[in-house]
Amino acid sequence: MQLIRVKIKNNINEWEEELPVRSLATAKEDIKNIIIKYNEKEKKRYGDEARLREFIQILSNTKQKIHDWQKINNFTQKDRNGYYDEYECPSCHLKKKRYGLGKPSREKCYPDRVCIICNKQFANKINCEKHKTKYHKII
Ligand SMILES: [Zn+2]
Ligand SMILES: [Zn+2]
Repeated sequence: MQLIRVKIKNNINEWEEELPVRSLATAKEDIKNIIIKYNEKEKKRYGDEARLREFIQILSNTKQKIHDWQKINNFTQKDRNGYYDEYECPSCHLKKKRYGLGKPSREKCYPDRVCIICNKQFANKINCEKHKTKYHKII
């Protein structure tokens, strides 16, 4: 059992809460079952007045991480576009140059959508797999 943060609504409002699930893989199914059971009780108790719940989504802090940019150069570098620092996300190994101050922008991190060999990011896992098979002969 583990707790997962989810967004839920009823006919009045929308809120976040933590629900117990067996694993991340079964999370959606488990949450739906919890809500079905809740709604059955609620209907028995309040009939037409029941405030039925509806599952909206699993929240990003448990499922979708954000790149954790770490600076990888000791000294500021320079190329034809100017001075930059290079950052790498240890989760997906994507690298980014950042010109000027501050870290690269906050974006969602999907390790299975990045080709480490050529540092490209894809819109989804399938495109990434296809790319790796075609260009790097990785199956
Ligand atoms: Zn990342
Ligand atoms: Zn590649």
